[in-house]
Amino acid sequence: MKRGSISILQTLPGFEGQRAAAERLFTKRGVSITSSRHEVLRHLRDWVFRNEQLHARYQTGDASIEMVGELVGRLASHAALPHRRSAPALFQEALLSGCAEEVERLTAFGEAAHLPGFHAAAVQTLQELRHHRIAPADLPTEERRAADLACLVDQLDRELERHRLSTLSHRIERLADAEPSLPQGLRHILWIGEDEWPPIFLTLLDWLVRAGCKVTVLAETHPFDERFFVAASSLTEAFPEAKVIANDSSALPIHALFSPTEGSGQGDAGVRIVAAADEFVEVEHAVRHARERLRQGVAPWDLVLFAPSLDEYGPLLHSACVRLSVPVELDYRAPLLTNPFARFCGGALSAAVNGSLHAVAGLCDSPFTAVPAESRAEVKRTVQSLASAQDPWEALQSGAIEGLPEWLSEYATWRSSASSGMRTMTDWLSAFRDLLARTPWLDESASSALHRRNEAALDAMLRSLEAEAMALAGRTMSLREFARRARARWQATDYAIRIRDAQGVRVTQSAWDIGPANEVIALAMTEGRVPKKRTEDPLLPDALRKKVRSSSLPDSYTVAERSRREFYRLVASARSVTLYYPVTFGEGDEIQSVFISDLQRALGSVRVHAVGFEKRFPLPSAEDDPFDQVACAAWNDVEPPTEEARRMREALAEEVRRCDDTTIVSPSVQEEVSRIPQPLRLSHIRAVELCSFQFLSLAHLRLRSEGEHAIWRAAVRTIRNTDLLSDAESLRERLHAQFRSELDAQRAFTSESELRVLELAVPTVLDLFCAVEKAAREKWKLKPIRQNARLSETELRDTIPHRGANIKLDDTIDVVYERDGKHVPLRFGFVPSRPEEMQDFELRASLLAVLQPKGLRAVLFHDVTGGERMALYQRERPNENLFPSSTSENLRAHTAGRDGDRLTLAEFLNETAARVRDAFDKMGRGTIHPEPGQHCERCGFEDLCRRQDIGPRPMEVVE
Ligand code: SF4
Repeated sequence: MKRGSISILQTLPGFEGQRAAAERLFTKRGVSITSSRHEVLRHLRDWVFRNEQLHARYQTGDASIEMVGELVGRLASHAALPHRRSAPALFQEALLSGCAEEVERLTAFGEAAHLPGFHAAAVQTLQELRHHRIAPADLPTEERRAADLACLVDQLDRELERHRLSTLSHRIERLADAEPSLPQGLRHILWIGEDEWPPIFLTLLDWLVRAGCKVTVLAETHPFDERFFVAASSLTEAFPEAKVIANDSSALPIHALFSPTEGSGQGDAGVRIVAAADEFVEVEHAVRHARERLRQGVAPWDLVLFAPSLDEYGPLLHSACVRLSVPVELDYRAPLLTNPFARFCGGALSAAVNGSLHAVAGLCDSPFTAVPAESRAEVKRTVQSLASAQDPWEALQSGAIEGLPEWLSEYATWRSSASSGMRTMTDWLSAFRDLLARTPWLDESASSALHRRNEAALDAMLRSLEAEAMALAGRTMSLREFARRARARWQATDYAIRIRDAQGVRVTQSAWDIGPANEVIALAMTEGRVPKKRTEDPLLPDALRKKVRSSSLPDSYTVAERSRREFYRLVASARSVTLYYPVTFGEGDEIQSVFISDLQRALGSVRVHAVGFEKRFPLPSAEDDPFDQVACAAWNDVEPPTEEARRMREALAEEVRRCDDTTIVSPSVQEEVSRIPQPLRLSHIRAVELCSFQFLSLAHLRLRSEGEHAIWRAAVRTIRNTDLLSDAESLRERLHAQFRSELDAQRAFTSESELRVLELAVPTVLDLFCAVEKAAREKWKLKPIRQNARLSETELRDTIPHRGANIKLDDTIDVVYERDGKHVPLRFGFVPSRPEEMQDFELRASLLAVLQPKGLRAVLFHDVTGGERMALYQRERPNENLFPSSTSENLRAHTAGRDGDRLTLAEFLNETAARVRDAFDKMGRGTIHPEPGQHCERCGFEDLCRRQDIGPRPMEVVE
C-alpha cells in the first residue's frame, strides 16, 4: 500500500487562525475535518452552513466534519473490528465504584478511596495514562501507590471488557493493530483545534499515513517563539518527514505578548483592562458594556463573553443578563440537588421508604404536587389523620378519601408494589420512570420558565441511575437500598443549565469557542483562575510521574503553561478584547493574573481602568428602560432622565408612602388586621398580649418562626411522630428507631455535616426526654392516653365566649395524660429558667388551664432544649401537693395564680378570662406596632419588625 503524507500547517492561534486554512482545504474531494474539540467543529459547521457552495458539498457527503471518536468508529467498522459502545466518564466512574470491595483493598489511597469524587479523579488519571499509552507494567510498581494505580487500571479494563464497552484510546489501540486501510471516499484528513498531541493521537496519525491517507494538521504557532506552542514541536519530532508549511501572516502587535523580546509591542492592540471593585461590580459593568455594544449595532455573534469557570461565574452572568435584558447563549453546571425537582423526587423516595405519613404530607407543600396553596393545610391534615388508620397506606391507595389529590393514590400504589420485592437497578430505574409517569409532578412545572431546568435535572437523575445500574449489573436490592443509592448518586452529580435566548450573545469558558467574533469581554482574570491554582494529581503525584517508564506525562506545572497558551489564544482571538478582574471576591482580596502583568509589559500603552463600588450603577441614560433608570438614578442620587422614569419613581415613592400610612389605614387592610383570625390558636392570644407585631406575623401573615435550632426541631418532630402511648420500657428504642427513619427522610435535603451533627446530638436529647417522661409517669402518676390531639378531640373546650359569640379555637395538644380519671394536657415549648420569664410562661399555661371544663386544672409543659418539665396546677385543697418537684429528675411544679396560692380558683379564672378579653379587644383595634421586651428573646421575627428602627413610634390603625 502506498504510504500517505503528513503536512503541518502553521497558523495563528485560536479558531480564527485556523479557519482560513480549513476553508481552503474543505473544497478538496474526500476530505474529513476532525478534532477532539466539539466547540471547534461546531463553529466550523456554522461557517460551512452559511456558505451555500460549501454547504452543498457537505450535504453530498463529499466533505465531512466529524469528531475524532466518530472518525475512529468509521475506521474501525471498515477494518471489521468488533463494535463496542463508548463508555462516557460517568459510566467509567460507576464501573469503578462497582468494584468497591477491590478498591477498598487499595491501601495507598487510604481513606481517600471512600471520599466523594475519588472515582471521578481516578477516571481522569486513568484516561491520562491511556492517552500517553502507559501500561500498568510501565508504572514503578515497587511503590505502593503506583502498584495500586496499576490495580485500578486492571479493574477498569476488566469491567469495560465485561460490559463490552470501550474508550477512544482503546479503540485507537485496537485500530493500530489492524491492517491500515481507508474507507472508500476518504482521502484527506484535516485535523484542527488541538493544543497538545498525546501519544495516542500520534499513533492514530501514523496509522492514517500508513493507510495511504493525506493528513494535514493545523498547528498554532507564535510568531516570535516557536517553542511556545508545544503541539507543533511534538508533531515535528514524531514525523520528521512531515512537510512544514510556515505561517505567512504578518505579526500583529498582540504577538509581542510572551515573545522572547519584551516590550516590543506597539500600541494597545485593542486590549483594555478593567479592575472592578468586586465580582458583582465586575459582572454588572461587563454586561452593561455588552448591552451598550449591542445597542450600537454590533451583531450578537460578533460579541463573546468569556469566563474561565462558568460554574463560578455562570449564575452571576445569568442573573445580570436577565435583569439587564441581554439575550445570551450560556451553559453552566450546578449541583443536581440544588434543583427543586430533584430534591422533591429525593423526598418522595425517602417518604416511600420510611413510610412516614408526615413526610408524605410534607410533599404536598411542593408546587410539583399541584395542591392549591389555600387547600394545602387541609390536605396535609387529612393525610396525617390517616396515621391512625389500621393500614394508612392502604387507605391512601384506595383513593376513596375525599379532598386528596389523585396522585396520592397512584403514589401509594407504586409504593406498595415497590416495597414488595427485590429488583435490579435497571428494574428500579424503570420503576422510577413509572412513578414519574403515574404522577403529574413534572407536568406541573410545564408552564413555568424553569421547566426546562427541571427536565435537565431529571435527565441528569436518570443518567446517573443508568450509570449505577451498569456498575451493579444483576445485583438485586430493596426499595430502601435503591433510594439510598439514588440519593448518594444525585448528591455527587451536576446538571447542565442551558440558556438559549434568540439572538443571544455567546458565553463561554473556552478560548477555542470564541470563534469568528470581533469583540471579547473576558472576566475573572485573577491568580488562581488564570492560571488555575497548581494542584498535583492525588493519584499520581509529580514525583511518581517522573519515575514512570518512558513517560511523557506532564506534571502539575504544565497546567500554568496550558493556561498561558489559552490566555494568549484569548487575547489574540478578536480585534477588541476587554479583560476584567475583581479586586475582591466574596470576603477575600484578589490579585490580578500574572498574565495581565505580562501583557502590560509587552504592550506599553495598555491602560487599566478602575471601576469602584460607587460606579456599580452608571449614571442613568434615557436609552435605559425606565426601571433601570430609576435604579441608576437612586444609586447616583440624580434625577431620572426621562419623564416616564420620573413618573415611575414618583409612583414608587407614593407606593412606599402608601405602605407606610395610607395602606395601614385603608378600610380593607384595617378590616383584615382587626378581625379575629381563623383558626385562632392559643399562641395568637399569647402573642397579642405580648407584642402586636408578633401577633400580626403569626396570625395574619401566617409566618412561622424558624428561630429554633435544627437539633431541637428534629427532636420534637421525632417525639411527635413516635408512639408514646405504648409501654414506657421500650420507649427509648421506639424514639431511636423513629429518629433513624426521620434522619433517612432528611438525607436528600440536608448536608453531610448537618446530618452528622443531628446524629450526634439528637439521641442525647431523646434520652433525656425519655428519662423525664418515665419519671413524670411514676412521680406524677400520669398515664398517656392520646398524642398529637386536636382540641376538639380532647376534653378541653375549643371555644371561648366573647361579646355574645363563641370564638372557635384550634390547636394541638402534644400529649394528653390521665390522672385520677381526669385529663392533663402537655405541650412542648419553653419552660422558664429565670423568674422574669415566669409571667410569659404563666400566660401560656393559664390560657390552657382555663380551657379545662372542671376538676383538675393542671397543665404540663416540656422543654426539650433543657429536658425540663413543668406543671402548673390549681390546688383544690390548701397545701395539697399534687405534682411534687424533683430537681434531679428535671420535674418542676408551680401553682396557678400570679402569686402562688394567694389566688383562689375563682380569682385565677377571672383574672385569666380578663386577660383573654383584653387580648380580644386589642386584636379588634388592629394594632400592629412592635412592642419589644423580654419576649423578643424567643420571637424569631426580629428581622421583620425592625423594632430598633421604628422605636416607640406607634403604627396603630386609626380611623
Ligand atoms: S422581636 Fe420583639 S418587638 Fe419584634 S416582633 Fe418579636 S416580640 Fe415584637
